[in-house]
Amino acid sequence: MGEKAGRRRPGPLAGLLVAVVVAAGCMGGGLDQGEPEQPGPRQNGPAASGGADSTRADGTTSVAEFKQDFSDAVGVAERYWTDRFRASGKQFQPIRRVVPYTRSGEVSCGGEALPRNNAVYCSAGDFIAYDVNWSVGAFRQVGDAFLFYLLGHEYAHGVQVRLGIRYNFTIQQELQADCMAGAYIGDNVRSGTLTLAEGDLDEFREGLLAVGDDPNQPWFAEGSHGTAEQRTDSFFRGYENSLDACGLG
Ligand SMILES: [Zn+2]
Repeated sequence: MGEKAGRRRPGPLAGLLVAVVVAAGCMGGGLDQGEPEQPGPRQNGPAASGGADSTRADGTTSVAEFKQDFSDAVGVAERYWTDRFRASGKQFQPIRRVVPYTRSGEVSCGGEALPRNNAVYCSAGDFIAYDVNWSVGAFRQVGDAFLFYLLGHEYAHGVQVRLGIRYNFTIQQELQADCMAGAYIGDNVRSGTLTLAEGDLDEFREGLLAVGDDPNQPWFAEGSHGTAEQRTDSFFRGYENSLDACGLG
């Protein structure tokens, strides 16, 4: 049974980077009120959870449902990267843990307390942590495609660490992670693991426009993620052309 997804709309998300060396993290607050919109990607196959249809449609996704969906997206990412690494003769070690949190300081990364309203990959502990209430809010307002983008982007940071990729500027690291998130979603759509509903591509597009840096921020500034246009270009380069487009070497 595939998951039935709700109808949601993208809203603005501000980019945020937490302690670049230790934690390559990413999304920050600023979501506005959502309106009903298109369903997001659905995971196919027996592994997907079902039965949430009635709650999704009216945007009342529960924390428990979100956690389940997030963990499904993690499973898709683990299989995806395991296969990709195997194809190049390497063994992939999945990211160790995924940690939902609700309070500022509840989770630390390399001795630094993680703030609310964020999602982050922490290389110091090799885990992804996310503010579950903020993420559920984003999921309701931006759309459920957001969840796959969010997880795909953070997971990509863990893959960059495994590949020993470390750029001089955060913007390079971030745009590559956007490309890898696009490849993760696009390849899984092509293989039939994920199904996109009508409007999902627009949802990605609008969501990416919303996470772009302030146009006045210099591209070389610590914490820069890229303009809306750069982030959109990177994501869709990966989405359409797979990992070859992402410069993984
Ligand atoms: Zn990032």
